[in-house]
Amino acid sequence: MASLLLSSCNLLRLCSHRDRHLSFPLGGREFATVVCQLGSVVYLLSLIAIPLAHSQAPPAAPNITPAQKPDRPDDGDEEIVAAVVSGALPSHRLEAQLKDCRRAARLRREALRRITGRGVEGLPFDGMDYQAILGQCCEMPVGFVQLPVGVAGPLLLDGRHYHVPMATTEGCLVASVNRGCRAIAASGGAASVLLRDAMSRAPVIKLPSAKRAAELKMFVEAPDNFQALAAEFNKSSRFGRLQGIQCALAGRNLYMRFTCSTGDAMGMNMVSKGVENVLGYLLNNFPDMDVISISGNYCSDKKPTAVNWIEGRGKSVVCEATIKGSVVQSVLKTTVEKLVELNIVKNLAGSAVAGALGGFNAHASNIVTALFIATGQDPAQNVESSQCITMLEAVNEGNDLHISVTMPSIEVGTIGGGTCLASQSACLNLLGVKGSNHESPGANAKLLATIVAGSVLAGELSLLAALAAGQLVKSHMKYNRSSKDVAKAAS
Ligand code: ADP
Repeated sequence: MASLLLSSCNLLRLCSHRDRHLSFPLGGREFATVVCQLGSVVYLLSLIAIPLAHSQAPPAAPNITPAQKPDRPDDGDEEIVAAVVSGALPSHRLEAQLKDCRRAARLRREALRRITGRGVEGLPFDGMDYQAILGQCCEMPVGFVQLPVGVAGPLLLDGRHYHVPMATTEGCLVASVNRGCRAIAASGGAASVLLRDAMSRAPVIKLPSAKRAAELKMFVEAPDNFQALAAEFNKSSRFGRLQGIQCALAGRNLYMRFTCSTGDAMGMNMVSKGVENVLGYLLNNFPDMDVISISGNYCSDKKPTAVNWIEGRGKSVVCEATIKGSVVQSVLKTTVEKLVELNIVKNLAGSAVAGALGGFNAHASNIVTALFIATGQDPAQNVESSQCITMLEAVNEGNDLHISVTMPSIEVGTIGGGTCLASQSACLNLLGVKGSNHESPGANAKLLATIVAGSVLAGELSLLAALAAGQLVKSHMKYNRSSKDVAKAAS
């Protein structure tokens, strides 16, 4: 600035001087002044222009994987989409054909738009690792669905605090579990015990006669044969270990319920592979057996059944807490007496009247499903995983409340299935149960099962309290129905 000012003054003085008009070629002094002037202008302009250019430049690319780079139409996209639309190229072959999962999903999406005449703009596309879901989680992807994840807690369980991630669209749910966690923590925490860890698979085998089916049952259940069968079963995995085989007959059909531990995996693939090994071995002694199906529904997967309720499937857990009377009053806004009566009349008698099968609870499924979705479990397994009996009793001369949940079939894993995806894996990490537990394989999945039960305990406590205090509708109107015009929002 100083140089510009001085040179400008000098130039003006030179130009206005009567005797010394600026004329070319320039003299030494004039030349120096002009160079000074130009140099200052260029320097000042560069000071202004560089930050301006920076502010207009696109932001530096975040640390994204090559798969997440913005898409540019590739050569040949148009032909491929046209081939999918015409049916010449089956949509399910895009990944194999293109060897690029993200591009395959993008072109499938475009083909879908053209075929249906409807866009799916609201369905997000960016942000999913399409390579990670190939052969693991989902076929023929075109995007993903967003679900909000709330965090309830801390849940004080077995002396440790957990912040529980819950994926849900039901307003009130996270707030309710959060309140239950507060009541539990204020009363010293909850305690859990894992009673059993046994995933099951039950093939159905047809034999020429009921007598032959009975012979196979005796053979499979004979203690002397267990070692040989277990050796066959255990060949399939480092983690799957056969625990037992329980048989049921229907005429000449034999249902064999194999149970095994599965480490940190939920275990359905593992147990199925083990069962296949054993069936191959049994064919040596029973060549007349006909394997109708690797799953004969006596397993029972994703169906409400008595066999799971009685025998358990996956992790069987009991969880309890004693809630101080003062906390029942101050946090839950009700009384011990009202809660105990409500539990008998609703969760026990009411469910008996309804003919419930493992549904002796207020809303275990709400918590199980939200936690399952957040942590990459199979949400369809909420059917049996939510089987739960909630018990409430007045203790300490009627002053305090003992509450427990007994859940025989919590089917969870921390490795395999949807647990590998980034967001689900982050939620597992939040709970400290991500992946395989190397020191003690299976410990992560077991811990996750106890966290599920502890969260259900919190949810049961809070919902029962809301019902006892007559607050359910009021709180749902507050959290579950905003003042928005719902019909308008949906359209
Ligand atoms: P699922 O049976 O739940 O469908 P998979 O058997 O398909 O799961 O996936 C589990 C995989 O993870 C197996 O290949 C298994 O060998 C491997 N694995 C690595 N560590 C563990 C562990 N700690 N517990 C169980 N499986 C593990």
